[in-house]
Amino acid sequence: VEKILEVEGLKKYFPAGRGQVVKAVDNVTFHVYKGETLGLVGESGCGKSTIGRTIIRLYNATGGTVKFKGKNVHELKGKEAKQFNREMQMIFQDPYASLNPRMTVADIIAEGLDIHGLAKGKERRERVVELLRTVGLNEEHADRFPHEFSGGQRQRIGIARSLAVDPDFIIADEPISALDVSIQAQVVNLMKKLQREKGLTYLFIAHDLSMVKYISDRVGVMYLGNLVELAESQELYDNPLHPYTEALLSAVPIPDPSVEKRRERILLKGDVPSPINPPSGCRFRTRCPKAMDICAEVTPTWQEVRPLHWVACHLYQEESKNEVAATSEQT
Ligand code: SF4
Ligand code: MG
Repeated sequence: VEKILEVEGLKKYFPAGRGQVVKAVDNVTFHVYKGETLGLVGESGCGKSTIGRTIIRLYNATGGTVKFKGKNVHELKGKEAKQFNREMQMIFQDPYASLNPRMTVADIIAEGLDIHGLAKGKERRERVVELLRTVGLNEEHADRFPHEFSGGQRQRIGIARSLAVDPDFIIADEPISALDVSIQAQVVNLMKKLQREKGLTYLFIAHDLSMVKYISDRVGVMYLGNLVELAESQELYDNPLHPYTEALLSAVPIPDPSVEKRRERILLKGDVPSPINPPSGCRFRTRCPKAMDICAEVTPTWQEVRPLHWVACHLYQEESKNEVAATSEQT
């Protein structure tokens, strides 16, 4: 399958005053296959939204590269940049804040059509109505304003707006986090249906692991600016390798405890350290129940330890094991 997006050694640092920097995203590598959903999970502040915003060029990259369809997105100019702005769309966590309150739904949805000169007059109206129907709304909604809608309906409007320009790739940044639980599944199911019908590729950013598993083909786990593990959804849930993933999963309620094996709840000590001064070596080491001496000295490398299963942790690195063995022999 074709890799539609390739993120390689991506870094995004922000100035934090007094010459300090926040290493919001540090050396992150992954790719996304055409037509799949890649979920990205982690606590708030782990850098997952920053990755999304850097990929879609809201931010420049501090280091590394983002390639979309083989081209470095941060070097696109003119026509190619404009095409990228159409092919990749983003939907946001708060559909109210991201919809202009003074614009009608029709004008909001048609914004992309207007910008890219794709439809005018009667054709524009027809396209808006078609998009409303696609997301489960109808023409009656076209001339109303965002405040007249519920959170779930506003997210449907946001989705219709992103679809107007016929994109290939959608970055969804916590699209359901602000919605009632009863509405979340509806929006996720709509997104799945649209993906099948239109062959869309999704980068689905979230902190809710259970919903991410449901929608994603593969899931990546982030901690303090680093991607620490990435695997196919079922594999990640059945065989988590990274101690942080194990802890996250231990907090996810199991639907039917009589069928699945019970997971022991792992409580992490301490808080997430500051991304201005992250711990040396493995950034998770200050909270890791399995930390070893080497974890403070050497940054674990990002390795594919099983087919399609990537992890950055010394527990799974041959070189690290040898080093640990050699050290214990000497002492
Ligand atoms: Fe824990 Fe060390 Fe693995 Fe980091 S590298 S997750 S500290 S065992
Ligand atoms: Mg965020």
